[in-house]
Amino acid sequence: MELLPIFLDVRNKPCLVVGGGETAIRKIVSLRRAGASVRVVAPRLHERFDELASAGDIEHRQRLFEDDDLHGVALAIAATDDRAVNQRISRIAKARGIPVNVVDQPDECSFIMPSVIDRSPVLVAVSTSATSPVLARLLRSRLESLIPTGYGRLGALCARYRDTVKARFADRRDRRRFWDRVLQGSVAEWVFSGNLDEADAAMERELAAEPDECMGEVYLVGAGPGDPDLLTFRALRLMQQADVVVYDRLVAKAILDMVRRDAKRVYVGKERNNHAMRQEEINRLLADLAKAGHRVVRLKGGDPFIFGRGGEEIDTLAEQRIPFQVVPGITAASGCATYSGIPLTHRDYAQSVTFVTGHLKDGTIDLNWEQLAQANQTVVFYMGLVGLPVIVEKLMASGVSSDMPIALVQQGTTQKQRVYTGTLANILDIVERDPPKPPTLIMVGEVVRLREKLSWFRAPRNSEQGATTPILPAS
Ligand code: SAH
Repeated sequence: MELLPIFLDVRNKPCLVVGGGETAIRKIVSLRRAGASVRVVAPRLHERFDELASAGDIEHRQRLFEDDDLHGVALAIAATDDRAVNQRISRIAKARGIPVNVVDQPDECSFIMPSVIDRSPVLVAVSTSATSPVLARLLRSRLESLIPTGYGRLGALCARYRDTVKARFADRRDRRRFWDRVLQGSVAEWVFSGNLDEADAAMERELAAEPDECMGEVYLVGAGPGDPDLLTFRALRLMQQADVVVYDRLVAKAILDMVRRDAKRVYVGKERNNHAMRQEEINRLLADLAKAGHRVVRLKGGDPFIFGRGGEEIDTLAEQRIPFQVVPGITAASGCATYSGIPLTHRDYAQSVTFVTGHLKDGTIDLNWEQLAQANQTVVFYMGLVGLPVIVEKLMASGVSSDMPIALVQQGTTQKQRVYTGTLANILDIVERDPPKPPTLIMVGEVVRLREKLSWFRAPRNSEQGATTPILPAS
């Protein structure tokens, strides 16, 4: 490294920008953000300047550069399109000991400006040492997506508690350990989700606790329908911080592989009629793990609040005053619809969509079939594969036409996705010839026809899955 990265405090200090083009405007914006008082020298200014001027503390000298403009400034930026002028500014500034940046001419610079991710008070600066601004911007946008906007608030919280923590832990190593726990635990998560009161409460609890009596917490996380790319940033972050992950059959292996390597994995089953663990036991397990001080991620397929019994699991936690948070996920209906090219609603075909459970109990499905038989809607059945014959029969008995399109999406969004389409009249024959595997989602409605045009996702064909994804004949 041949450069020393530093952050300069320019609040209320005069800073010079020579030039009035777009680049100059960008520099003015950066300087104003940092609180500098800006002196701009340019005969003409880019139109965007007018918006800026109202932001105050900008002095415009409407003429060409004169040596005197450098008088008393804390730093100078030369952004004219005249190389000779830029060089002159650089030479004089250097002679007077004023830090100077010349746009696009690294050799003339005594400092360069990095690309910045602003989570004030947290700033992340990226520089390629002036070799490639495009690469710097690329890196910057990658980092942008990795650093939640809440980092600014987290920085502010650190500032507020700095002295208190120092007083509480005399030893520097204890202090480090404390901050490690706070910045990767519930305090940070409350801050990220915007609940600053809870964050403060959690911080006070951490400060009051002896190191070994800390309460853990539970994150009920929606893992989406299968494709790991459909995880949320928050889900991924929590999975990578977890001490324990509790998961069931619906969570795809590719997703489980993204959990922190040394986290303990607990499988709680949930195959149909073969629950490895009963719901009450799962509820209790989560509470016990948290009480033992663990950060527990309870991973659920899809969204935890859609046919996920997420409510019940956190109910127990709430009763026992165990801290928890819920992270939404993409639900199967949404994932399967998009990956099969079947919009759930459509201006011409469906003005509403209904999610129902097709779970078969005592040979029947207890639903308001009259309502589900209404026209101009899409009905999505979760857990309906076993009950498919009942679904077909009940819909037709309630007046739905036998040529109503129906689609079954097996293992939607994954490499094993298969889509079966047919009508109420023929779907049972179609699936009998080549039965789908769970999990499978069922969609009923005219929108199924749109797949013919809108289908875009192709799961790679493999020997296990056979080849066809029949598409409905156009009606
Ligand atoms: N909470 C989950 C749903 C759990 S109920 C969610 O929001 O998606 C389980 C049912 O969801 C399955 O029986 C199946 O109908 C459906 N399902 C879940 N993931 C699926 C997938 N990848 N492909 C097709 N159906 C899926």
